[in-house]
Amino acid sequence: MAAVAEVPMILDGKKVASKTSTFFDVHNPATGELIARTPQCTADELRAAADSCAEAFKEWRRTPPSSRARVMHKLEGAIRDNTDALAQVLTKEQGKTIADAKGDIFRGLEVVEMSCNIPAMIQGETLANVASSVDVHSYRVPLGVCAGIAPFNFPAMIPLWMFPPATTAGNTFLLKPSERVPLSSVMLAEMAHDCGLPPGVLNVVHGGHDTVNFLCDDEHIRAVSFVGGNAAGAHIYERAGKNGKRAQCNLGAKNHAIVLPDADPESVVNQLVGASCGAAGQRCMAISVAVFVGASKEWIPKIAEQAAKLQVGPGDAKGTDVGPLISANAKDRVEQLIQSGMDEGARLLLDGRKPSLPDANRDGYFVGPSIFAEVKKGMQIYENEIFGPVLCCVEVDSFDAAIKFVNENPYGNGTAVFTRSGAAARKFTDEIEAGQVGINVPIPVPLPMFSFTGNKKSILGDLNFYGKAQPPAGVNFFTQLKTVTSAWRDDSYIEKLSTAGVGAQ
Ligand code: NAD
Repeated sequence: MAAVAEVPMILDGKKVASKTSTFFDVHNPATGELIARTPQCTADELRAAADSCAEAFKEWRRTPPSSRARVMHKLEGAIRDNTDALAQVLTKEQGKTIADAKGDIFRGLEVVEMSCNIPAMIQGETLANVASSVDVHSYRVPLGVCAGIAPFNFPAMIPLWMFPPATTAGNTFLLKPSERVPLSSVMLAEMAHDCGLPPGVLNVVHGGHDTVNFLCDDEHIRAVSFVGGNAAGAHIYERAGKNGKRAQCNLGAKNHAIVLPDADPESVVNQLVGASCGAAGQRCMAISVAVFVGASKEWIPKIAEQAAKLQVGPGDAKGTDVGPLISANAKDRVEQLIQSGMDEGARLLLDGRKPSLPDANRDGYFVGPSIFAEVKKGMQIYENEIFGPVLCCVEVDSFDAAIKFVNENPYGNGTAVFTRSGAAARKFTDEIEAGQVGINVPIPVPLPMFSFTGNKKSILGDLNFYGKAQPPAGVNFFTQLKTVTSAWRDDSYIEKLSTAGVGAQ
């Protein structure tokens, strides 16, 4: 059997093999095959990577912003040119369909495009003559070394949320991809270096908790961006905060859609199936609960019928709609939650356990679309983020009851309403407590021109880390303001220059 490749770090612009003896196995989720091993980088390697970022910062912070943005212009082209190859790698390590992999890359590409405009976003403000001959100006300066800790579910988009804005704003960056999907990040970092990012501006380190703790503790690191689950996020927010670092954590979700009886039934059914089961439900913006008001509950069986038509299979096969979950553990967990839903009295209209699969995929981690009706608060399928292709349908009598139900959920990442009434949509927008709101749009995806505004238990920190610069958002997270007050009132010197015929300078 051929040796399984060890995933390299990216250090000083080069691929470097770790000297560790501890690894995390990376499996192809569609087959269970071992495809790579992610190193737990040693303490010396992590320190070397942070030192290299600190050294590179000295030069990079002085590099003209337009030169830094030029690297992003090139990276944009490189990602476009290599989308097919990147999508293949992404599907192999993460499992999602090739179409979803391309969507993952495209969403990240939009952040690279936005990063090209960062020079215009880090301009400051000026006020002249605040006192006699005294002017004040402020401008945005980079923080120093920043770190990013990414989850498994968007192996391209989420690293691209992080390092392009951070580095273009003048920081250097230490990226830790999920140990479960490290290959896409290594590929992206190699592309960035091929496009002219100087050595040390972006280093990629690997590992699990030890690497995370290093990033929260290391004295060079000024800010930590995290995207992932609530347990890790709470730990990182606290540990990085205790060490005086800026931290921004985008966390888990339980996104609800409210369905009003005046909505277009066909559109509701299609959109809910896609939003709950697409990407195998492994999206922080997936709709996992649909709250049906009044007579709209009659459409619930149609959702199960439609979801049953989705083709479950390997992400790289033509016609696949739903790929595997990330791991054997994730599959067991989702199957157990489905069982708990049945045991606790919800009605399982479509059971995705044991989907039919090609022989080559029998050891893959597949769970097909699963639809529950009569879901109630307190059931495990309602109280937990399932992160699988499972939709929980809830029935209520009124719009007010639906809004109350959604607002009582502790998460606030995203939500949607389906209606043909502008007044109902406006009431929903006004009263709902989630941060990303969709009107007849089941997954209101965050665009880089806006902040990602998830709220409540779905976020820790208040400087949403990507999105436009003025006023909230991303560039703010990766920069700080410097305000300069200057007094130039040496009139005798100006007089001397004038009499010498030089004029004031
Ligand atoms: P995860 O929290 O298990 O892992 C994320 C990162 O944290 C990984 O790099 C991992 O190595 C590290 N990590 C995991 N557990 C840790 C711990 N106890 N201590 C320190 N570090 C730890 O998340 P995941 O399973 O990779 O991703 C799925 C989760 O991410 C879901 O909850 C999903 O909702 C969330 N997510 C949120 C957003 C958002 O923008 N709100 C986007 C994508 C994913």
